[in-house]
Amino acid sequence: MPVPRIRAARIRARRARGAGGRGTQVPMTIIDLRSDTVTRPTEAMRLAMARAEVGDDVLGDDPTVTALQERTAELLGFEAALFMPSGTQSNLCALLSHCGRGDEYLAGQEAHLYRWEGGGAAVLGGIQPQPLAHRPDGTLDPADIEANIKPDDPHFPRTRLLCLENTLGGRVIPAAYLDSATALARSHGLAAHLDGARLFNAAVASGREPFGEARRIASGFDSLSVCFSKGLGAPVGSVLLGGREFVARALRWRKAAGGGMRQAGVLAAAALHALDHHVERLADDHANAARFADALAGLPGLAVEPARTNMVFAVPAAGLGEWIVERLRDRGVLCTGDARLRFVFHLDVSREDAEEAARLVRETVKETTG
Ligand SMILES: *Cc1c(COP(=O)(O)O)cnc(C)c1O
Repeated sequence: MPVPRIRAARIRARRARGAGGRGTQVPMTIIDLRSDTVTRPTEAMRLAMARAEVGDDVLGDDPTVTALQERTAELLGFEAALFMPSGTQSNLCALLSHCGRGDEYLAGQEAHLYRWEGGGAAVLGGIQPQPLAHRPDGTLDPADIEANIKPDDPHFPRTRLLCLENTLGGRVIPAAYLDSATALARSHGLAAHLDGARLFNAAVASGREPFGEARRIASGFDSLSVCFSKGLGAPVGSVLLGGREFVARALRWRKAAGGGMRQAGVLAAAALHALDHHVERLADDHANAARFADALAGLPGLAVEPARTNMVFAVPAAGLGEWIVERLRDRGVLCTGDARLRFVFHLDVSREDAEEAARLVRETVKETTG
């Protein structure tokens, strides 16, 4: 193993020299690639928020929230939509609305709603997950789905729901697969929910008109959750979409979960602004991710995987991940991971930032290989 501590000292020395002497602080630009949730609202978005017409949405009279709900339902091909404070609450309300106590949902091992949401459906709803292994492309094997749908027998939970995610870890799940998986679910009497936190990343990656493509991707599902606080650049907010009765149930659960928000139009205005201005531009994030991955291809000491929409994953030499993350932080590049690093591209990362980040990753990784 190289001697990271000595190298770290060298880097500090170099940075100190670059800092122009004792006492002076060089303002360092931070390139934050930890997640696409770190974006700050743009000036134009803040203006739209400031000007939003508002009412009390719990009483059903915030016109901007209503406009967002109607617009997303129409755009994405569902009867109704409900504005949610977070993607987690949106998925939770979906699970609670599809399933009751003793019911079960099928989801991938990596599914956000199974793995990354505090087990909310089990904690609050008595709903049991049945996690399934992903195939390398992120899909679930239809034979595995079928084999895990329990027979109607008091020994078993009632299998009610299939949950899929798109994009999943940045991967676009093919629309044809989604159609066949939802058809399979339906043929067994299951409902299907799509966690489309990054649905528009998948839609834009197709190269087709993004709203039509998003509608097409979601067309086999009974419900859909979409985040505005990821690549779309809003400070907060998701929508949960589905049939009228489903959304009426979800409204009760949202209230119970404490997600009824009053003058929420200021937040819905950010989401509406994002729909108008930040969907097509996701293509820039995908291009920056690809540029970053290309710039690091073949670098000894870091196995960079091809970009997946707006994300790049890279595997450093064993045991060096944490060190690399720390040294990158010293250089002003933030990322996550350890055994496998993740770099996420978004609204606040320019082409120049992506190129500069690649240069700094290269410089850092080179120190580990001597
Ligand atoms: C981020 C995310 C969520 C949850 O959204 P929050 O607003 O952070 O609660 C759900 N699903 C996926 C796939 C996500 O990436």
